[in-house]
Amino acid sequence: MSPTYKRVLLKLSGEALAGTNKTGISPDTVAEICREIGTVLAMGVEMALVIGGGNIFRGLSGSAKGMERSSADYMGMLATVLNALAVQDMLEKQGYPTRVLSAITMQEVCEPFIRRRALRHMEKGRVVICAAGTGNPYFTTDTTAVLRGMELKCDAIIKATKVDGIYDKDPAKYSDAVKFETITYDETLARHLGVMDATAFALVRDNNIPIIVCRMFGGDIRRAVMGEPVGTIVRND
Ligand code: UDP
Repeated sequence: MSPTYKRVLLKLSGEALAGTNKTGISPDTVAEICREIGTVLAMGVEMALVIGGGNIFRGLSGSAKGMERSSADYMGMLATVLNALAVQDMLEKQGYPTRVLSAITMQEVCEPFIRRRALRHMEKGRVVICAAGTGNPYFTTDTTAVLRGMELKCDAIIKATKVDGIYDKDPAKYSDAVKFETITYDETLARHLGVMDATAFALVRDNNIPIIVCRMFGGDIRRAVMGEPVGTIVRND
């Protein structure tokens, strides 16, 4: 069976790399995530990755402590570069070619993000790891995921999380929380479900790329790419 989505944008939060520690980078967890990614690459699916930075630094927390918001956001963007390099290293150790493309130029470390170059890398089977967010303060890596997903003509955006989909209320707090199989962008926003920020949804709503929210582990990312009913699909219809 061939995958439903031939080119995907996978969004991982920074915290996903921290394992049980919640902060920093756990090599064991990164290795585990890369194995999940490997099962998708093995099917010949083209992949771009956007990784957050929340395990190291978030602009909002910095500004809450009195830092100038833009400076704090640049620190957050640099944090995503650390994560990108960690994932690049592990993916390559596992035999998958990659390129890190950064929205903030740092030529000694990685390539600049150039859309056409990113597309070419993917066509050649390289995982494109998009680092440094959008390169602009006041944005998030969720918005980056949607932006890059659209620019790179991905068929789906997969947001891999700790939870296995979108619920009507927090399943960690409420035992009667109900999971949505599908939901529209508008309803997600109206119900304040907090899946992605409003800027990200505003962007994606007009382009109708499906966003699949699923678990990071247990083969769900692969199942999502195969089009199997897993997690929650957010789309217009
Ligand atoms: N960030 C930014 N512009 C962007 C993307 C990210 O300023 O286009 C900063 C922002 O401060 C954010 C931090 O980078 O808090 C880390 O990203 P995010 O919070 O989205 O990471 P995640 O929650 O996914 O780990």
